[in-house]
This record gives sequence, C-alpha cells and structure tokens, in this order.
Amino acid sequence: MSDCIFCKIIDGDIPSDKVYEDDKIFVFKDIAPKAPVHLLVIPKQHVPSLADVNQDHQELLGYMMTKVPQLAHEAGCEKGFRTIINTGDEGGQEVYHIHIHILGGGGRLPFA
Ligand SMILES: [Zn+2]
Ligand SMILES: [Zn+2]
Repeated sequence: MSDCIFCKIIDGDIPSDKVYEDDKIFVFKDIAPKAPVHLLVIPKQHVPSLADVNQDHQELLGYMMTKVPQLAHEAGCEKGFRTIINTGDEGGQEVYHIHIHILGGGGRLPFA
C-alpha cells in the first residue's frame, strides 16, 4: 500500500527504530511510547486491521503472536508484558496496517 506509513517503514522510506526483522514481520519502537518498552509488531504483508483477517491470515497471525514473548524478553520485560491490538475507529486504531503493541518494563500496568 503506497500511502501506508507502516509499509513505508518496512520499505525504509520512513526511518524507524527497528529492533527485529525477518521475512514475515518487522518490529520497531513506538514513536510515542506509553511504557519504557513499547514495541510495534507488524506483518510485512499489508493487512488493514484485525477486522479484515480471514483463514488465509491464520498462519501469519499465529507467527506474529508466537514471536511476542521472545521480543518482550529481549526488550527486557522480565516480569511480564501487555499485548494490545486496537481495531477500527472505536478501538482506537490510528494506523490501518495491523499491529501488535507490546508494552512493559515499567512496573505493573493499570488494569484494562
Ligand atoms: Zn501497510
Ligand atoms: Zn496502534
């Protein structure tokens, strides 16, 4: 998607603080962190939101989720972390390229 900022980050057209990349996913630090550790995990395939997924995305989403504990651990979240996927307008989604937020490293997060 040519007008998607996360696709531009993947392509390197917009700079990011990358922490991990492989053939399926790209992981970088949130530009406006809400915790000492705040990473965004995005698929290289452009998928707009969780509301747009179907059976074809099962393997990709499973892969993203299974990478999360490793990424959280390597980022220093020793006592736990939170994962968030915001979906759609009322879900507070700001960029329409599906992404998993990983938050942690700053003590117990407020209940949500
Ligand atoms: Zn995109
Ligand atoms: Zn988000």
